[in-house]
Amino acid sequence: MSKNSIASTGYEVFFDNTLITLDNFLQTRNYSKILILTDRNTSIHCLPVLQEAVPRLQGCDLIEVDPGEENKNIDFCVGIWKMMLDFGADRQSLLINLGGGVVTDMGGFAASTFKRGIDFVQVPTTLLSQVDASVGGKTGIDMGHVKNIIGTFAQPEAVFIATDFLETLDNRQLVSGFAEVIKHGLIADRTFYEVVKERDATTINLDDIKHSVAIKNNVVTQDPHERGLRKILNFGHTIGHAIEGYSLAHDGDPLLHGEAIAVGMICEAYLARRLNSLGDEALADIIHTFRQHFPDYRFGKEIYGQLIALMKNDKKNAGDRIGFALLNAIGACDVDVFVDEETIKESLDFYRGLIG
Ligand code: NAD
Repeated sequence: MSKNSIASTGYEVFFDNTLITLDNFLQTRNYSKILILTDRNTSIHCLPVLQEAVPRLQGCDLIEVDPGEENKNIDFCVGIWKMMLDFGADRQSLLINLGGGVVTDMGGFAASTFKRGIDFVQVPTTLLSQVDASVGGKTGIDMGHVKNIIGTFAQPEAVFIATDFLETLDNRQLVSGFAEVIKHGLIADRTFYEVVKERDATTINLDDIKHSVAIKNNVVTQDPHERGLRKILNFGHTIGHAIEGYSLAHDGDPLLHGEAIAVGMICEAYLARRLNSLGDEALADIIHTFRQHFPDYRFGKEIYGQLIALMKNDKKNAGDRIGFALLNAIGACDVDVFVDEETIKESLDFYRGLIG
């Protein structure tokens, strides 16, 4: 894949010479003020790189949040709104979100609601945010331990993906993003899955990132508001988000998003084998892929009730029924498969049985 950019719904995602492209983009716009949102880590590792490549961004107003999913909440969002107000941001201002998915999700939400919406661009700095969170126009924050429950559909003006930023990312974070790359292959492109399952997070290259974004973009441009097809992106996320929420609330060193989704994808592949047409061989292959790259997560039956309660808050449900996106083969996925609680628990038993 050699294209330098991919067109999405009203904006472009840029890949090569990206920071120069950002500079050119800023030159063509007449923003009254430019603000940059970072977290403490991207302030240290990414902001100097950005400001060196784009000198016009030196001296612009900076807003910094504490890093981590536990801070993707309304309190930090209020802090962002207050600082935007203090800095005198108006409807002609631009917010640059420089960070991982927490910054791009929360910054997108803050911008899309401030003064009924100001322009924002995404400069994702983790693998996860480059292949997934920054593309598709979903913004949001968590409430308690319910993930992404408050948010907007809001399109950025552009997304600038610079893989140089990944050099300072720690390996665990890189592996977390790798889960979504594998997911994109599983739900829509068997050939891509076969390629990336043989890699590891450190050997993912720019072409893989472009391909992964192209898969997501192809889905979100057909269904920007998640009426149908877009739900395939949620494969692994119904159970994965519940595990992530549980882990955030209870573990000293909680699972990262991709780690939780990897567990969710194993459980939901089991459901796909049980309720859909995914075959035994495909299930075994998926289990092998995830267990090779991701840590096991140990939990007992006593947390099933809490996990199910978290799943019931999921936005994909209809009334009391818990909705899933389930593979029907590697590379193809169905949406709106509703599964009863007993069968969901069976998939959790299956996972626990696997890891012993
Ligand atoms: P994150 O934003 O928490 O970043 C992970 C960690 O890496 C943080 O500590 C951060 O400070 C640090 N970091 C970021 N860039 C760095 C760099 N270049 N060098 C060194 N450290 C760096 O987490 P994430 O995995 O990027 O994103 C997860 C979030 O994305 C979740 O909240 C999830 O819900 C969201 N998400 C959203 C969508 C969507 O469509 N909007 C899709 C998938 C995930």
